[in-house]
Amino acid sequence: MKFNTKTIHGNQQHEPATGAVMPPIFQTSTFAQSSPGKHKGYEYARAANPTRTALENAFAAIENGTHGFAFASGLSAIDCVLRLLNPEDEVIAGDDLYGGTYRMFTRLFAKYGLKFTFVDFNDANNIIKHLTEKTKLVWLETPTNPLMKIADIKAITTIVKSKNKNILVAVDNTFATPYLQLPLDLGADIVMHSATKYLGGHSDLVMGALMVKDAKLAEEIHFIQFAAGAVAGPMDSFLALRGVKTLHIRMQRHCENGNSIAKYLVKHPKVKEVFYPGLETHSSFEIAKKQMKDFGGMVSFKLKDESQKAAFAFLEHLKVFTLAESLGGVESLANHPVTMTHASIPKKERDAIGISDSLIRLSVGIEDSEDLLKDIETAFSFV
Ligand SMILES: *Cc1c(COP(=O)(O)O)cnc(C)c1O
Repeated sequence: MKFNTKTIHGNQQHEPATGAVMPPIFQTSTFAQSSPGKHKGYEYARAANPTRTALENAFAAIENGTHGFAFASGLSAIDCVLRLLNPEDEVIAGDDLYGGTYRMFTRLFAKYGLKFTFVDFNDANNIIKHLTEKTKLVWLETPTNPLMKIADIKAITTIVKSKNKNILVAVDNTFATPYLQLPLDLGADIVMHSATKYLGGHSDLVMGALMVKDAKLAEEIHFIQFAAGAVAGPMDSFLALRGVKTLHIRMQRHCENGNSIAKYLVKHPKVKEVFYPGLETHSSFEIAKKQMKDFGGMVSFKLKDESQKAAFAFLEHLKVFTLAESLGGVESLANHPVTMTHASIPKKERDAIGISDSLIRLSVGIEDSEDLLKDIETAFSFV
């Protein structure tokens, strides 16, 4: 099956009792047994719920995995991965991670004896000198947020696995989605998503996902999902499954609009720098071109006027773009990382990474690109 068919039909079947084309929302916590231990495959909804099962099967299909898991949030999916480890184990992670991931690593799990090392993954060779006997997990995100740095997934998995094939490589694929890149096919063991973003796609739920291709790893993850209990509910599972079915067609438009806006911004006299992996001037354009089918809908840029006042004037005058956190929905969103999504990172660190007062991040939606460009043009006139 090709990807555009898989999003709709991958691992899906009509509901057996009635033939319903979409799985019903099985809003139930428990399932009747005819005799103790005798049931139809479902006992208690933390272990499994048929609506969630349908979604988890779709999750597996779109990432070319064998098993998928739906969690209460993206962060609870990451939490599950970390629970595979033991005290003293070491994790190597990218130095430009989603803020909540960094917070979980350093403030929730470091105290249980896990050791985290943060490395620039722009060059895969940077990992070699940090790999030790105790390294159990490599965690990477590509493209990164908000500067769209690209890590070469295949090069990293090759280096890590040649050192020790038992080290797990996990990829947060939230920004790219499987429409653009398939980490499991590139050698990764685990794909993670904040399904809150593109997979759900409609800014109407919070959810996380894990996809794997190894039965033993799937068993361990299912045990943790069941034992720790951060599962996705049936209503959210229904909405996310509905979202997945249009992922390919939404992503196509996100990419088209993202491209148009990035190219427009590059030429704009009030713009200093644009961060979009599809621009030839982007530091990792070559890797992006090799690794990704297209370049996505996330575009960041810096204004020439580096004052916060200028950035605020631009953001306050957008009308089609909504000023809000999050990303990946059908509607376009604008965000000021310094005061919104990245406020928890100390200023000194923000400056070191390049997250400055004049940086603006756009999640380009699937509206008509002419309206989006006009909206940006009007907002620029107030800068
Ligand atoms: C939003 C996000 C997360 C966290 O997911 P939640 O659903 O908000 O818990 C993790 N990684 C990335 C890249 C994200 O954008």
